[in-house]
Amino acid sequence: MNGCPFCDIAEPVLVRNQHALAISDKNPISPGHSLIVPTVHVQSIFALPLERYQGCFELLRTLKERLEESHSPAGFNVVVNGGKAAGQTVDHAHIHLVPRYPDNPCIIH
Ligand code: 5GP
Ligand code: ZN
Repeated sequence: MNGCPFCDIAEPVLVRNQHALAISDKNPISPGHSLIVPTVHVQSIFALPLERYQGCFELLRTLKERLEESHSPAGFNVVVNGGKAAGQTVDHAHIHLVPRYPDNPCIIH
């Protein structure tokens, strides 16, 4: 127990592989907003060994396919807030997968 919310996940895991798991974001900006979280504590996805980095992106694609079936979004944003200056608030690397809908367009430009 190190106080990191992504090291000690008590929430339902949506899908996982040997490198990462996916959870729903606790403050979703759209229905289905989810996070891919590598199952090691590093601050940046870019610090991950290549195999685990690739495992995270494999899981991202699996989750995207599941969300297409469950939520039928019109599009997706894939977002990494890398570092405090970029808005990172949880110091355990993660990738946001944000389904988008016609009435909930992209706000990232
Ligand atoms: P960041 O700005 O670091 O990229 O985003 C962190 C995200 O993690 C935020 O969208 C926030 O809502 C989410 N979050 C923070 N703590 C928890 C938690 O304990 N559980 C879940 N499911 N999401 C969390
Ligand atoms: Zn952690």
